[in-house]
Amino acid sequence: MKAITLLGSTGSIGTSALSVLRQHPDKYNIYALTANRSVDILFEQCQQFEPKIAVMLDESSAELLSLRVKTAGLLTEVLSGEQALEEVAGNEAVDYVVAAIVGAAGLLPILAAAKAGKRILLANKEALVMSGRLLMREIATNGATLLPVDSEHNAIWQCLPVGKSQQYQYEGKGIRRIILTASGGPFRDYELQDLENVTPEQAIAHPNWSMGEKISVDSATMMNKGLEVIEAHWLFGMSSKSIEVVLHRQSIIHSMVDYIDGSVLAQMGNPDMRTPIANALAWPNRINSGVIPLDLVALGRLDFAKADHKHYPCLALAYEALEAGGTTTAILNAANEVAVDAFLNKRIKFTDIPIIIEQVLSEQTSCSGDSLEQVLADDKEARSLANKYII
Ligand code: NAD
Ligand code: MG
Repeated sequence: MKAITLLGSTGSIGTSALSVLRQHPDKYNIYALTANRSVDILFEQCQQFEPKIAVMLDESSAELLSLRVKTAGLLTEVLSGEQALEEVAGNEAVDYVVAAIVGAAGLLPILAAAKAGKRILLANKEALVMSGRLLMREIATNGATLLPVDSEHNAIWQCLPVGKSQQYQYEGKGIRRIILTASGGPFRDYELQDLENVTPEQAIAHPNWSMGEKISVDSATMMNKGLEVIEAHWLFGMSSKSIEVVLHRQSIIHSMVDYIDGSVLAQMGNPDMRTPIANALAWPNRINSGVIPLDLVALGRLDFAKADHKHYPCLALAYEALEAGGTTTAILNAANEVAVDAFLNKRIKFTDIPIIIEQVLSEQTSCSGDSLEQVLADDKEARSLANKYII
């Protein structure tokens, strides 16, 4: 029996993870569930899974939840605040931590899990984008295990040589390149000039995946793929030149590894995050996920196309940030979070997102990012610079 802390349990990944966990009560029990301020959903989850602890970042939401939990006669203890998130991520009663908080807020609890040597099922790509060097160092030093849940990275990981850990440096070891597939998002067939007036509602209506708002906008700009290039760099030790992005509109091949002998290994499946979640939960074994089997005949065809950097300027910015190194990727991530939030709140246009990120990147000086303080300071500065362009 493995004890799980599920960070961000009320979100898209969080609820998919609970859907898998619900199918295997003999293998996993829930130690802690956490959310920002979704009291109703977290209360329902507490009723169903009876975690030992429930954490809400927001204090008044925690008070509401606590009242409802007590009234319902549940034994769950309700805590609040950032410290509590770190506590449940690193607690010695916990075996696995599912990291499904969105954005930079996920970083500190993930670092706490790494320091405590946990198996971390990583959905939150922003943590690696902000501080890949620090996180990978903590993972290695403390004997933690980092398993990718992002579908592309989980696919790559499944296609890499058996028995190698994810902390292996793959560059120059028989692998020509990693090929990340991208659906192209909801605006893939739009002309460039038509992007200016697209709305948040259109941007979050993804053709293949149902996801949280922030990652849906990231998919529309393809910053999501850019963040994933950076994520792949840290997870697999590959340089930016050996990581390629290809458009694949059906989202059936989740990514590929191209070996120097000409073999290209791909991982396929229906686009449903329960597959990578189940894979990372059960590794090195396999468990049912509830995902419907792939029907290749019904599918009929798979298409591929070039990912055009003119159509997706955010992808180009992410490659440039990775090549610049240090805290540049943390600056990119912070500026993107602010710009996406402003777009969702209808304060800027869709096409302003890359413009704001580029302005912040050109104005701010990055540093080596060897310490958490540096990373957090550059994240903060990038947010205030980005906000300057919005107000
Ligand atoms: P979401 O918005 O649906 O859920 C986010 C969760 O984090 C919620 O439980 C929310 O309460 C919690 N949260 C939000 N802000 C918080 C804060 N400041 N402090 C603590 N908790 C907070 O997001 P999602 O789509 O589930 O994505 C979660 C992460 O997984 C993101 O980093 C995303 O990039 C990554 N991811 C998601 C998918 C997907 O299919 N949704 C796929 C791959 C990777
Ligand atoms: Mg992905």
